Amino acid sequence: MPGGAAAVPGPLAVDFDQVRAAAGRLRGVAHLTPALVSSQANRRTGATAFFKAENLQRVGAFKFRGAYNALSLLDPARRSRGVITYSSGNHAQAVALAGQLLGSPATIVMPTDAPAVKLAATRGYGARVVLYDRLREDRETVATALARRDGLTLIPPFDHADVVAGQGTCALELFEQVGPLDFLFVCVGGGGLLSGCAVAAAALSPGCRVIGVEPAAGDDAVRSFHSGTLQHCENPATIADGARTHSLGRITFPLVLRYVHELFSVTDEELLLAMQFLWERMKLVVEPTGALATAGLFQARVDVAGARVGVILSGGNVDVTDFFARFPRAGPQG
Ligand SMILES: *Cc1c(COP(=O)(O)O)cnc(C)c1O
Repeated sequence: MPGGAAAVPGPLAVDFDQVRAAAGRLRGVAHLTPALVSSQANRRTGATAFFKAENLQRVGAFKFRGAYNALSLLDPARRSRGVITYSSGNHAQAVALAGQLLGSPATIVMPTDAPAVKLAATRGYGARVVLYDRLREDRETVATALARRDGLTLIPPFDHADVVAGQGTCALELFEQVGPLDFLFVCVGGGGLLSGCAVAAAALSPGCRVIGVEPAAGDDAVRSFHSGTLQHCENPATIADGARTHSLGRITFPLVLRYVHELFSVTDEELLLAMQFLWERMKLVVEPTGALATAGLFQARVDVAGARVGVILSGGNVDVTDFFARFPRAGPQG
């Protein structure tokens, strides 16, 4: 099938009913994160902006939504056999916690050189960690082999309908909190959050323009969006570690083409400035990837003056010690 916005749309993997059903499953389990307003941000942009603080979500990122929804939907026999995923980031902890809450033993495949804090956090949620050598082995191959051997269900980080539907509850909740919006800015890695949120926006706020924001060093999604064919990038060098994915997915790409209105990139320097704004002005600890949408808003490529704007702050898991050691000029003495 030819790709691209002009191609005849095939059936899409996720519709709004799935997002709404996911919201029902997450009620009382996920935190209802606040939609915060900053007069500084409003003055700077001329808009009325609402920042959805998913950095305050369980495990510190929206990823809990998708993981919990996906595990909830497994039939009981598969769920009690256990689940597996490969990630060194927020999805690992999300699957670990969801597994703990739902009685599903979780196995997480992580690189031998993963930060000790992340290994400890993942084990802290009761998950079994299996280490692999990042230079000699492929994590998907390791996870797939283990899944087959032990009868585990693989829960991928973004390219899975139930994961996407879960992530979409983030925008559903925002619309419930603040009403319809003119624009919604969302970060992009593999596009799980963006496509889920865009499905929710199309249903709940039909005039809302959904804008994806990606790191400039790994702008495969921007190129995919504009060319209509799936583009890749290898190991992009960006501080936005949650968006170092190699491409959009087979499920997320068609959803992005169908429901997203614009996609552009920001530099790491713009990301740092956005993080600094969120920390200093809004007192919010947001990780680099979590500040992508804010950087996109401040880049002023889209005229938002007078508009009602949503901005998703996707996560807050930043190793502060490591961060300030690497970027001393963004530090408190800077
Ligand atoms: C995973 C992640 C992203 C990217 O999400 P995708 O669904 O892969 O696009 C963005 N921000 C944070 C904090 C994440 O953990």
